[in-house]
Amino acid sequence: MDLTITKTTSPKAKPEDESKLVFGRTFTDHMLIIDYTEGIGWHDARIVPYGPLEMDPATTVLHYGQAIFEGLKAYNCPDGKVRMFRPDANMHRINVSNERLCIPPIDEEEFMKAMMKLVDVERDWIPKAPGTSLYVRPFIFSTDVFLGVHPSATYKFMVILSPVGSYYKEGLDPVKIYVEDEYVRAVRGGMGFAKTLGNYAASLKAQEVAEEKGYSQVLWLDGVERKYVEEVGTMNVCFKIAGEVITPALNGSILSGITRDSVIKVLKSKGIPVTERRISIDEVIEAYDNGTLEEVFGTGTAAVISPVGELCHKGKKMIINNGEIGEVSQMLYDTITGIQSGVVEDTFGWTRVVE
Ligand SMILES: *Cc1c(COP(=O)(O)O)cnc(C)c1O
Repeated sequence: MDLTITKTTSPKAKPEDESKLVFGRTFTDHMLIIDYTEGIGWHDARIVPYGPLEMDPATTVLHYGQAIFEGLKAYNCPDGKVRMFRPDANMHRINVSNERLCIPPIDEEEFMKAMMKLVDVERDWIPKAPGTSLYVRPFIFSTDVFLGVHPSATYKFMVILSPVGSYYKEGLDPVKIYVEDEYVRAVRGGMGFAKTLGNYAASLKAQEVAEEKGYSQVLWLDGVERKYVEEVGTMNVCFKIAGEVITPALNGSILSGITRDSVIKVLKSKGIPVTERRISIDEVIEAYDNGTLEEVFGTGTAAVISPVGELCHKGKKMIINNGEIGEVSQMLYDTITGIQSGVVEDTFGWTRVVE
């Protein structure tokens, strides 16, 4: 695939203070666009100056949300190289999401190369301070101008980039989580396993209510029985009970997180027992009551590991590990962020150097 590059003639000033970067508010000078037209396929890959898109008001995505996205990071490493963490896994997940949303598949290797070229063009934008990175946001949306509920014949694949600060300003900070028993995020047979827009629209209400009650995220239960644990906010979730790490099995309504997969592989490599299975909220409460609930943490690209210090279920407040970070949570955070930033040897072959 040919990739044309048009550089901006008016580059923006880079952020002056890397410690003040707010997630997802600052964008770099360029973006990647690849078009899709039925009968032609994906075509016209181009890196162009960052800027607004003009759209017909009847563009299908604005009405029916046929669209998907991804999120991953690039790191400025101490050896001067730029590395991305498991970008092949994100490209593969795009095709999993595309299949569910009736969006034509992408060539994972070709699109990854184009995305990495954009990161290369913008390498001066990648912050250098410890814990900082460049957040990479690929997305695809339908572009037919038509008010029918029907798969589009045209799409745009795009990538935009955002320099981001350290998620934790003063070390790993445990969060308070509200166990949601009214709203649900997804059901089996729905779109929970796809990174598609509607899932996030569906989550806003519960998140807003939880915040009003003083909690930072919700713990989602299954949509049928409101009994089995699914995810925490937009992260996967792990419980350490009596020395064993348990994470809900991928059942169709849970997103298959790349951080989740990395956590499982790191735990196995260290000989720490880890199981993927169904786990009910009652089992979590029972473990809390008998003193075997040792750690709870979320896993996702943005925070990597997010320790949970408190769970609230139907008015019952459970303080986990004295509201402090557990040993395994800390080890996982140090190992994975170490591999990502090039200070821990990548024995898993996860990182890719941007050249
Ligand atoms: C993106 C996402 C995750 C985490 O996936 P990672 O690949 O680890 O970033 C988990 N749950 C939901 C709902 C998500 O959207």
